Amino acid sequence: MSVLVYTENEEGKFKKAAFEVASYAKEIANMLGTSVTAVTFNATDSAELGTYGVDKVLEVKDDKLTTFTAKAYADAIGQAAKKEGASVVVVSSSADSKFLAPMLAVHLDAGYVSNVVALPESSTPFVVKRTAFTNKAFSLTEISTECKILGLSNNAFGLKESEDAATVESFTPELTDADFAVSVTSVDKATDQVSIADAEVVVSGGRGLKGPENWGMIEDLASVLGAATACSKPVSDMGWRPHGEHVGQTGKPVASNLYIAVGISGAIQHLAGINASKTKVVINNDPEAPFFKAADYGIVGDAFEVVPQLIEKLKEFKANNA
Ligand SMILES: Cc1cc2nc3c(=O)[nH]c(=O)nc-3n(C[C@H](O)[C@H](O)[C@H](O)COP(=O)(O)OP(=O)(O)OC[C@H]3O[C@@H](n4cnc5c(N)ncnc54)[C@H](O)[C@@H]3O)c2cc1C
Repeated sequence: MSVLVYTENEEGKFKKAAFEVASYAKEIANMLGTSVTAVTFNATDSAELGTYGVDKVLEVKDDKLTTFTAKAYADAIGQAAKKEGASVVVVSSSADSKFLAPMLAVHLDAGYVSNVVALPESSTPFVVKRTAFTNKAFSLTEISTECKILGLSNNAFGLKESEDAATVESFTPELTDADFAVSVTSVDKATDQVSIADAEVVVSGGRGLKGPENWGMIEDLASVLGAATACSKPVSDMGWRPHGEHVGQTGKPVASNLYIAVGISGAIQHLAGINASKTKVVINNDPEAPFFKAADYGIVGDAFEVVPQLIEKLKEFKANNA
């Protein structure tokens, strides 16, 4: 029995979510009185996971697995789980993990619960808290299969450092051509930008910004906060911003610590994607905008006056606290 964790990396460097799932897996291992094994794919420094409680790393080095391939990754993780006799497998809530988790569940005959937000309420029966109805409610879900797969929501648990060191073992999963029946042929990637999924802070703009020529101030605000930029659906539909930035029910989910919405009305389909964010700040010139009901802090005012002042004050604050 062990807890197995799939730790994602980008070009060899672990994502923050990898450290978060490792930290979470360690707490479950402590609950169950067992250890944590991580699986890595072409990671540069697998031993780094020891800092977040991983006891052992099964390190896969294979050029064919440089880009994410759901079936191959799921099969490899499944083989690792069987080798370790894992009773719990923890993955993140990234698009990649949500893609591979159901395949892994089939491989391991396991129950899979996504959007988990806390440690299990109990281990016998195994009950976890997850969000439901696009983050509008929580549900307590019991998993009764022998092996259980948990998809941890981003930023739900945080990072916990540990004094331990991880041992690193080479692992070569048995993969066949069928595992690569669907493969990535090329990747176009935006550079120098914080990705929405990994961001602690997201600055988002809506139709209230009037046009793409006004996005400079959203980018400036994001830059001073080290934030990712996002937008509402009509904004990306009109081509003011790339589709990858559209958040909401039909766009990307956001689970940042801070979400700043500028000139966004707060339609239910938008809120569905950002409900999991911890603190929501809304800037809107209409005091009746529905977003104010969901906001922790609201500024009623013209974005074109408020945002430049906010940027100026933040720069001042940073300079005084450097
Ligand atoms: C099936 C379906 C799925 C959908 N999925 C999504 C989704 O995933 N994400 C999403 O965002 N939408 C989604 N929508 C669309 C959604 O219903 C809304 O139409 C959309 O969110 C509105 O975008 P908006 O708030 O940017 O624009 P608007 O509704 O036009 O609101 C603009 C806001 O800006 C304010 N404003 C105007 N000028 C200023 C100013 N100078 N300063 C400050 N504030 C100003 C206005 O008061 C207003 O509140 C979906 C709709 C459907 C039917």
